[in-house]
Amino acid sequence: MIFETSTAAILQKIDQIDPVAYGKSRNYVDGAVSHLSPYISRGVLSTKLVFERLQVRGIPFSSMEKFVQELAWRDYWQQLWIAKGTQINTDLKSEQLEVLHRAIPEAIVKGTTGIQLIDQGIQILKDTGHLHNHMRMYLASIACNIAKSHWKHPAEWMYYHLLDGDWASNALSWQWVAGTNSNKKYFANQDNINTFFYGSQKGSFLDVPYEAFENIPCPENLRASIVVDFKTPLPASDEVSLLPERPVLLYNYYNLDPFWRKDEAANRILLLEPSVFEKHPVSEKCIDFVIKLSKNIPGIQVFVGEFENLAKQALGQQLIFKEHPLNKHYRGTQDDRDWLSSVKGDFPSFFRFWKPCKKELKNR
Ligand SMILES: Cc1cc2nc3c(=O)[nH]c(=O)nc-3n(C[C@H](O)[C@H](O)[C@H](O)COP(=O)(O)OP(=O)(O)OC[C@H]3O[C@@H](n4cnc5c(N)ncnc54)[C@H](O)[C@@H]3O)c2cc1C
Repeated sequence: MIFETSTAAILQKIDQIDPVAYGKSRNYVDGAVSHLSPYISRGVLSTKLVFERLQVRGIPFSSMEKFVQELAWRDYWQQLWIAKGTQINTDLKSEQLEVLHRAIPEAIVKGTTGIQLIDQGIQILKDTGHLHNHMRMYLASIACNIAKSHWKHPAEWMYYHLLDGDWASNALSWQWVAGTNSNKKYFANQDNINTFFYGSQKGSFLDVPYEAFENIPCPENLRASIVVDFKTPLPASDEVSLLPERPVLLYNYYNLDPFWRKDEAANRILLLEPSVFEKHPVSEKCIDFVIKLSKNIPGIQVFVGEFENLAKQALGQQLIFKEHPLNKHYRGTQDDRDWLSSVKGDFPSFFRFWKPCKKELKNR
């Protein structure tokens, strides 16, 4: 899977979505999924823009409901991040039970779990920076519910590799699988993996009926665990020069929107703060991807350093940025992000959020 980075190629991807086929096949490895998440996560596309572009094609809401519901999951997790802040880094609704350690099984890091399709999935993640949603669920279930790791470090491992790394979707989905943000833990057995990823393996530690998961001991080859010291290879900073009479528009890892204040005369800066990447490290592939995406923004300069250092350099100039939970320390003019609907805030469940959201979108 290659993720192109020109704006034209990205918009074309939206036009290739077949929402009807999506609804029927999304759980299969070769399902008609959109592969839009790296662009949505990096703030190139908003869920609103994707929805509106589908509407322009005249697709009735009923035909695209499943797809739009998935877009709404994205907004839901983001809204939860806004509402809960750093609480999403800890067990949200209930404590994870039967935790053996706060590390990650070494066999997951190395791709040697012994489940062939899972080991292939791990290799795909490392090679391409992407993974099918169902494979993410399998991996999270093996790490948390079979090997009994606390969810956080394995989640950090996955986030590190994903081009679409979005800490809200990531941490909260891991918590959903681990049962700390849902009513029960998620399990999948070998039959399930064989069905959706077209395998035939038998006799693995997952080749058991679902009742067996209640008391399953950690399999021998998942026992060794490690803590990985993830580091982000940040690029060298440009020698940033700012035109004093123009405002400074701040882009970052979560905002690379090429349409944002597009026609305004402004200094455009991609701000990569080491402190953010210390908390949420990402791989070299992710950084390369971001640098390539930033090329869609004319005149953008890369500033590697903290917000305060940039603010000193831009003394007296207006700083403008988009709202995001990782930008709370920015000062200046804050623009809102675009959302799928006007439904916002802290909802106790996705379906409580989706109900009013669907009502609004159906009638647009
Ligand atoms: C353990 C785990 C970790 C995850 N980590 C991330 C992450 O770091 N970043 C990330 O973007 N997504 C994450 N997801 C959600 C989901 O797997 C990806 O968004 C999806 O696989 C992206 O592929 P796609 O663009 O082809 O999605 P499609 O199936 O085509 O869906 C369209 C869009 O809807 C949104 N979407 C779909 N499924 C979900 C979902 N379950 N949760 C939130 N939004 C969704 C995405 O924006 C996606 O681009 C995670 C899921 C799990 C189970």
